[in-house]
Amino acid sequence: MSGKRKDYISWDEYFMGVAMLSGRRSKDPSTQVGCCIVSPDNKILSMGYNGLPRGCSDDEFPWEREGDPLQTKYVYTVHSELNAILNYGGGSLEGAKLYVSLFPCNECAKAIIQSGIKEVIYDCDKYADTDSVLASKHMFDSAGVRYHQYHRTGRKIEIEL
Ligand SMILES: [Zn+2]
Repeated sequence: MSGKRKDYISWDEYFMGVAMLSGRRSKDPSTQVGCCIVSPDNKILSMGYNGLPRGCSDDEFPWEREGDPLQTKYVYTVHSELNAILNYGGGSLEGAKLYVSLFPCNECAKAIIQSGIKEVIYDCDKYADTDSVLASKHMFDSAGVRYHQYHRTGRKIEIEL
């Protein structure tokens, strides 16, 4: 065999793929979001998905989206981006990039900015018109955090587990 193989994945496909795979760990019945934080020299530093705080069981906490706020998921879940930031045990995330399957909400945007992450690559932006995402973009613009949409390549990867 000579020459290099043609089916290897790009850095962007690799990191967004890892983000999407992480999202598959989420038990949220409506939205699985995954995230992958990468150093400037393309090393994976951390990963995360949306879920309940450590020790808070699904048996006790709701995944509902409507009704009494204390009976909805919104007040309890930790988003993938915040989980990835909090899970990182290596010190500073200064200058890192964050790949995420859904554009960050305003609360995660604050954590992203404060942690020193400088670039966000997102896949879906379906909540672009919400106050939360508008606030995120306003803060990213002011703080000098660059963001751009992931360019889907259409590559399908099947992994037998
Ligand atoms: Zn968030």
